[in-house]
Amino acid sequence: MEKKVIVVGGGAAGMSSASRIKRLRPDWNVKVFEKTSWVSHAPCGIPYFIEGLCGEEDLMYYSPEFFRRERGIDLHLNSEVIEIEEGEARIREERGERKYSWDYLVLANGSSPILPEIDGIELEGVFTLHHPEDLRRISSPLEKCRESVIIGSGYISVEIAEALLSRGKRVTLIARSNRVLRKSFDKEITAPLEEEMRRKGVNLRFNEKTIEISGENRVRKVITDKGEYEADLVIVAVGTRPNVELAKQIGAKIGKTGAVWTDEKMRTSVEGVYAAGDVAETRNLITGKRVWIPLATTANKMGFVAGSNISGMNVEFPGVLGTQITKFFSLEIGKTGLTENECKENGLEFISKTIKARTKAHYFPGGGEIKVKVIAEKETKKLLGIQAIGEEILPRINSFAVALYSNLRTRDLFFSDLAYAPPFSPVWDPLVVASRVLGID
Ligand code: FAD
Repeated sequence: MEKKVIVVGGGAAGMSSASRIKRLRPDWNVKVFEKTSWVSHAPCGIPYFIEGLCGEEDLMYYSPEFFRRERGIDLHLNSEVIEIEEGEARIREERGERKYSWDYLVLANGSSPILPEIDGIELEGVFTLHHPEDLRRISSPLEKCRESVIIGSGYISVEIAEALLSRGKRVTLIARSNRVLRKSFDKEITAPLEEEMRRKGVNLRFNEKTIEISGENRVRKVITDKGEYEADLVIVAVGTRPNVELAKQIGAKIGKTGAVWTDEKMRTSVEGVYAAGDVAETRNLITGKRVWIPLATTANKMGFVAGSNISGMNVEFPGVLGTQITKFFSLEIGKTGLTENECKENGLEFISKTIKARTKAHYFPGGGEIKVKVIAEKETKKLLGIQAIGEEILPRINSFAVALYSNLRTRDLFFSDLAYAPPFSPVWDPLVVASRVLGID
C-alpha cells in the first residue's frame, strides 16, 4: 500500500533518506520540505568558496530538478516545517501555510550555529558560516575586508583562517580555550598546527573572552577581556547545536547530548518518526556512550539507514568513532577514536606513544613528515585511537578507523599487509612503526 513520507530538511541526511525510500519504494509519496532554496548542499565546501577555490553553485551536489525528475521526490523549496503533530505537518510555503499528512516522518533538520551573547553581534560585517545560503551576504564585505577576526578555535575556524589568509586578509583568531581543536586533539598534536598558523601570520589569541563587537552599523573592532582588535569582518564559529524544537513538539526523547535520541535504526522514541544527521545523537563505538558528533559522512549514512528501515529493510547504524580530518594549507591534521583526554574521562587504562616518520621512502623526492600518536588499552593492547599531523595522513587515519571498527589489537595492525612502494610510503609505514612501539605482544 502506498505510504506518505515527509522529510524535514533537504541537506545530506534528508536527501539520502528520501532517495533511499524512492529507490526501494518507487510508488510511495515522498515529500521533502526545505526552508531555503538549497538542496543536497555541501556546507563542508564553505571555507573553499571563501578561499576562492570554487563557486557558490558548486556547493549543490544535485539540482532540485534532478531529485524531482530522476528520483521522483516531491521537493518543496523555500518551505519551512513549522509544526508537527501525529500524522500531520504544518508548512510555511511561498504561497501560504498548508498542512500535509504523513505515515512516516524523517527529522533531518540539522543544527544551527551558536550565537554567543556578545554586545554588537548583530552588526553588519559579523557572520556565521553554516549553510551555503550564508554566503550570499558575505561576498561584498569579503572583497572589501582587510582586517578579519575569527571567534572560535574549532576546525571551521582553522579552515576559515586559511581561506582568509589566502585572500590576502589579516587574520586574528580569538578563543576562550587555551589552544586550537582542544576538544578533538591532544596538545602535542595541535602544537605544530599553532606554530604553522603563527608562521603564516595568524594572530592567535587564546584564553581571551570576547566581550563586545563595536562599530556604528558596521563592525570596526572586537573587544576582549585582554585587548582590542581592528576588524571589518568577523566570523563567529563557536560551535553548533541540534535543531530539536520540532522533535520536542511531537514528544520525541532528547538524549543526554541535547540531540534527538535514536536507536540503531534511526527511530526516535515516537512511532513512525525517524531522525538522521546533525539533529540526531548516536553511540561512540569504543565507549558505548551516547555522543553528538555532527559530520557530513555520518549524516549521509544515518539518512541512508533511516530511509532503508522506513522502506521495510533491517539496517542498523552502529555508531561513530569521531573520525575527522582537516588542514591548514599543506599541514593536515586528523584523528579517529579516543584522545588521551577522552580515555581519562572514560576511566580507561591506556598506553600511548608518539612517533615521527617520513611519508615516503627517504630517497624518494617529495616526501614529508608525519607525527602520529597512537593509543591502546594497557592490558589487552586493543587499539583505542590515533591522531596525526603532517602530510599524507588520510590513508593512515582511514586504515586505523577500519582497525578500530574491527576491534583490532596492536599486533593485528602491525601484521596488516599494508601496501608499500617508495613513492607512497616508507617500507615501515608510520602505522606499522606506531603499533610496534606500543608493543605487539
Ligand atoms: P544540514 O546540512 O544542516 O541540512 C539541514 C537542512 O534542513 C538545511 O538545509 C536547513 O535549511 C533545513 N531545515 C532546518 N529546519 C527546517 C525546517 N523547519 N523546515 C524545513 N527545512 C529545515 N562535515 C564533515 O564530515 N567534513 C567536513 O569537512 C565538514 N566541514 C564543514 C564545514 C563547515 C563550514 C560546516 C558548517 C560544516 C561542515 N561539516 C563537515 C559538517 C556537515 O556539513 C554537517 O554535518 C552536515 O551538513 C549535516 O547534514 P544534515 O543534513 O544533518 O544537516
